Amino acid sequence: MNCIFCKIIAGEIPSFKVYEDEHALAFLDINPVALGHTLVVSKKHFTNLENIPEEDLCNLMVAVKKVGLGLKEGLDVEGYNLQENNDPVAGQIIPHIHFHIVPRAEGDNLHLWPQGRYEEGEAEETARRIKQAII
Ligand code: AMP
Ligand code: ZN
Repeated sequence: MNCIFCKIIAGEIPSFKVYEDEHALAFLDINPVALGHTLVVSKKHFTNLENIPEEDLCNLMVAVKKVGLGLKEGLDVEGYNLQENNDPVAGQIIPHIHFHIVPRAEGDNLHLWPQGRYEEGEAEETARRIKQAII
């Protein structure tokens, strides 16, 4: 399979590893948003949240939690953002599930998405449409 992250897991492409267990591998993002920006990837290849089985997702999240704590301790950061880009329209470039852990610092000027407001009745209708589609 021609997947960059599978190749990193197999040791065919080098990476700066920070954590590894039976289910997950964590390594530095090659183009960091902030110092220590880390990717936590499932060792099994799944494209994204839609097709990773629950048990594998839980195992991956356990690793994400450990690495997040490690980043705080090791790099002395106060907090971090966790991001999973789901599908290309949301910025997912590598179709192998991974969570970004981005360390944050006061005044780092990293702006998250701008927020808006709902028009009258729009929130009710939006919530209704989502609710009826959740299985
Ligand atoms: P996404 O846009 O969520 O698919 O994120 C993919 C991330 O993988 C990007 O932030 C890239 O900088 C990162 N990336 C791509 N190739 C490598 C690599 N060989 N080693 C480490 N990070 C990589
Ligand atoms: Zn893969």
